[in-house]
Amino acid sequence: MMNTSHPVEHDLVLVGGGHSHHVELLRQFAMHRPEGVRLTLISRDIEMPYSRMLSGYLAEHYTFEDCHVDLAPLALAAGARLYQSRAVGLDLLTGRVL
Ligand SMILES: Cc1cc2nc3c(=O)[nH]c(=O)nc-3n(C[C@H](O)[C@H](O)[C@H](O)COP(=O)(O)OP(=O)(O)OC[C@H]3O[C@@H](n4cnc5c(N)ncnc54)[C@H](O)[C@@H]3O)c2cc1C
Repeated sequence: MMNTSHPVEHDLVLVGGGHSHHVELLRQFAMHRPEGVRLTLISRDIEMPYSRMLSGYLAEHYTFEDCHVDLAPLALAAGARLYQSRAVGLDLLTGRVL
């Protein structure tokens, strides 16, 4: 899924696949992928609720599929590595997400 024509110069790691990450950043990467940037998404959940529709879901106006965003195809379109996991810390000395 990665664009391998350029060496990785920067690692961009998103912790959580909420609105700000999946709607904005993944969408932008899907439209235009910066060269040399490797994008990684770490998310506890793969199917993210669209919060605005949750009350309608509870009232049974919408199905689960109607009001959840599947991160897998978005990550694929954005060329991002997707890990279903929980980040537990940052190692600032080595620049790693734990
Ligand atoms: C019921 C409800 C209705 C809303 N309606 C509206 C609305 O109509 N209009 C509007 O503009 N806003 C609305 N909001 C607010 C909107 O949902 C939030 O502003 C928005 O979701 C924030 O996006 P975010 O990406 O910052 O965080 P979130 O969407 O909260 O996503 C954070 C993600 O990070 C994950 N995460 C957290 N910690 C870790 C970890 N350590 N490792 C891995 N993953 C982790 C969580 O599982 C979560 O998926 C509503 C919120 C609620 C609860």
